[in-house]
Amino acid sequence: MDLQKVSILNKQEITPNVFLIEFKRTFNFIPGQIIGLTNNLDLPPRLYSICSSPANKNIAILFNVKSDGKLTPPLADTKLGDSVWITPVQGKFIFNNEPSWWIATGTGIAPFYSMLKSGQRPLKLIQGGRAIDDFYFSNEFKQLPDYIKCSSQYAGEGFYNSRLTKYLKEYTHLPTDINYYLCGSAEMVVDVRNLLICKGIPFGNIITEIYF
Ligand SMILES: Cc1cc2nc3c(=O)[nH]c(=O)nc-3n(C[C@H](O)[C@H](O)[C@H](O)COP(=O)(O)OP(=O)(O)OC[C@H]3O[C@@H](n4cnc5c(N)ncnc54)[C@H](O)[C@@H]3O)c2cc1C
Repeated sequence: MDLQKVSILNKQEITPNVFLIEFKRTFNFIPGQIIGLTNNLDLPPRLYSICSSPANKNIAILFNVKSDGKLTPPLADTKLGDSVWITPVQGKFIFNNEPSWWIATGTGIAPFYSMLKSGQRPLKLIQGGRAIDDFYFSNEFKQLPDYIKCSSQYAGEGFYNSRLTKYLKEYTHLPTDINYYLCGSAEMVVDVRNLLICKGIPFGNIITEIYF
C-alpha cells in the first residue's frame, strides 16, 4: 500500500475522548474527501474525513476514541512529533454547490467543517448529538443562517431536544428539489435516508458518507 509517513504537529482534545490531530499538508484535496491513517504499519489504515480547509498548511482529522478499538486509543496517546502513516486522499462525498441540507451526527460533522472553511454553505445544517459537548465547531457553524442542533439529552436554549430523526419527521413537507448530504454512523445515515425516501425525496438527491 502507498503510505506516507507524517509527524503529528498538533493534538487537541476538543471534548472528552474526541481529538483533533494535525500534520503537514503535502497534497491537495476537495472538502469532503477522506484519507486512511494508521499509527502502526501492522494495522490496516482506518478512514477519516479531512476536517480542515484545503487552504490550510496542515491537515486536521477529528476522531473519537473507541475504547475497544485498535487505532483510536493509541492515537489519542500520541505525542507531538510522533509518526503516523497516511494513504493518498480519496472519496466522493463532495458538495456540488447546489441547494442542500447538511445532516451530521458525532464526528460526521468533519467533512462539513472542511466545506464550511472553504466557503461552501448549505441552506440548512442539522447537527445531532447526545450532550452539549457533542456539538463540535458550533461556534463557527452558528454563522450559518439556518443551523439546528438536535440534542437527545440537553434541553437548553438554542437546542431542539430530541434526535434529528424526530426533527425531520415533524416536517409534513420536506423540499424535494434540493440535495441532502448525510454523514455519520450507519444507524443515523440509514434511518435518515429511509425517512427522506418516505417523505418523497428522490434517492438520487441523497448523498451519504457512512462511518462504519
Ligand atoms: C468513509 C469513512 C470515513 C470515516 N471518517 C471518520 C472520521 O472523520 N472520524 C472518526 O472518528 N471516524 C471516522 N470513521 C471511522 C474510522 O474509520 C474508524 O472505524 C474508527 O475511528 C474506529 O477505529 P479503531 O481502530 O479505533 O476501531 P476498530 O478496531 O476498527 O473497531 C471499531 C469497532 O468495531 C468493533 N470490531 C472490531 N473488529 C470486530 C470484529 N471482528 N467483529 C465485531 N466487531 C468488531 C470494535 O469492538 C469497535 O467497537 C470513518 C469511516 C469511514 C468508512
